[in-house]
Amino acid sequence: MKKLIDLSKKPWFLGSLVIIFMMIVLWNIPVEKRKYGLTQTGLVTDYTGLLPKHVEKVVVADNRIDLQKIVKEANRNGQKISVAGLQHSQGGHTYYEDGVVLDMRSFNRILEINETEKTIRVEAGATWEDVQEAIQPYGLALQVIQSQSIFTIGGSLSVNAHGRDIRFGSMAETVKEMTLLTSTGEIKEISRDDSEEWMKYVFGGYGLFGVILDVTLTLTDNDRYVIHTEKLKTSEYPSYFNQLLANDDTAMHYARVSVAPSSFLEEMYMINYDYTGEKDDKTLLKDEQAVRLTKLALDLGRRGGALENLFWETQKMYISSINGKEITRNNAMRSESTFMEYTKPDRIEVLQEFFVPIHAYEAYMQDLKSLLSANDQKDDFKVHNITIRYAAKDNFTKLNYATEDMLGLVVLIQHGLKDDEITGATAKIQYWTDLTLAYGGTYYLPYYRYQTKKQFKDAYPSWEIFKDEKLQRDPNQVFQNLFYEYYVK
Ligand SMILES: Cc1cc2nc3c(=O)[nH]c(=O)nc-3n(C[C@H](O)[C@H](O)[C@H](O)COP(=O)(O)OP(=O)(O)OC[C@H]3O[C@@H](n4cnc5c(N)ncnc54)[C@H](O)[C@@H]3O)c2cc1C
Repeated sequence: MKKLIDLSKKPWFLGSLVIIFMMIVLWNIPVEKRKYGLTQTGLVTDYTGLLPKHVEKVVVADNRIDLQKIVKEANRNGQKISVAGLQHSQGGHTYYEDGVVLDMRSFNRILEINETEKTIRVEAGATWEDVQEAIQPYGLALQVIQSQSIFTIGGSLSVNAHGRDIRFGSMAETVKEMTLLTSTGEIKEISRDDSEEWMKYVFGGYGLFGVILDVTLTLTDNDRYVIHTEKLKTSEYPSYFNQLLANDDTAMHYARVSVAPSSFLEEMYMINYDYTGEKDDKTLLKDEQAVRLTKLALDLGRRGGALENLFWETQKMYISSINGKEITRNNAMRSESTFMEYTKPDRIEVLQEFFVPIHAYEAYMQDLKSLLSANDQKDDFKVHNITIRYAAKDNFTKLNYATEDMLGLVVLIQHGLKDDEITGATAKIQYWTDLTLAYGGTYYLPYYRYQTKKQFKDAYPSWEIFKDEKLQRDPNQVFQNLFYEYYVK
């Protein structure tokens, strides 16, 4: 009989087997982009795929004269138009049944960079990534963007997004001028002090007031930051954050709250980007790294229970390992996103965001503990991640979520797609929204419509003014989407 290999004498052989096994496992982690969007047959969906609808046609935006013709024609013949960027919104904001969808993604030219005035004029279908690539060689950076740079400018301004910057206010405030195609087909040049106040409605206006063709954005320097990380108890966070705001050492900040059973809503870690006083026009923009490995870690954590504990401990170890490292502003504003793709059949991962006034945060988090299960391993409704962001009071846009200085809880939720699972998730999110409203808070509108119509109206009391203005500025209701139809119309 042939002698079997004695593994103890051949550690290199065992090592190679382990490496081959690991490579096969990593290679088989699915990271393909989710199948959603405008390219699928007659049915259109957005990021979650929860609201498929038939649309009449999708028009790829190419030049402003063609777009003008389409809008004029629709205004005459009663067609409905929706505007789509990258469709990362999740509640049918980019399409309407049997309507025309303007696909803005190819409307993405950089029109002008003014190095002295630190401004850029860019078409609205460009992504933040396109802008970063254009301005990085000039040592310039954006003032406010989401945590990732994958979104279009038109889509981001239409939800008035927020990110990790704590100094520049709302995204809407970073726009100096814009060109707008209105519902009558007029192309208007609009500045911040325009007496007709278009910007107040277009930013945070979900594509309902016209098509943003281009914007002039105010930029800032591509500063070099030193990362400072820290662990805290949830109860210590409001005073920590108020101090951070009051002293001027930190440019950007976000925090994460534990959803691991062993420290559920009790522990947090902070990531601050502190000024070094240096600027940078040399460091290249970073690409996504180790996507498969980070997705494996995330997928393990998504299982809940002990694996979620392990995931939280690993995150903490990673976060303390980056303490003291340096990073440019541009690179701090382009977090990885591909690894987040959720690829489990028959389940979905959605985002929700709840805003509470800073002073209410501690009591709110205590109450939240009685609403959510600390260990959701066996539950259908799972909360996998809660990130905390600052949203400065927004006095500018009409449908504003930051009615005072707020802390936003960005929540990643997973649930099943059977009817009873969707109903269960809806009930849970509605309770969560009630709790938030009871603390003087609001919730974010670009996501799936779990909230009731009453909750929408309570959270956004200016919705009636928004609607009146919509009807005045777009009397034939040319610009339509499923969000408007459900909540506002
Ligand atoms: C993984 C993920 C992370 C996110 N992180 C953040 C975050 O950190 N902070 C945050 O605030 N939000 C965040 N969001 C929400 C995100 O900012 C919005 O969904 C944003 O709208 C996405 O941009 P988009 O290009 O995909 O817009 P789309 O979804 O395509 O469009 C959004 C809205 O803008 C309108 N619109 C698009 N282009 C135009 C135009 N040219 N003119 C007029 N209207 C237009 C559409 O009609 C629609 O109503 C996140 C979403 C996801 C999925």
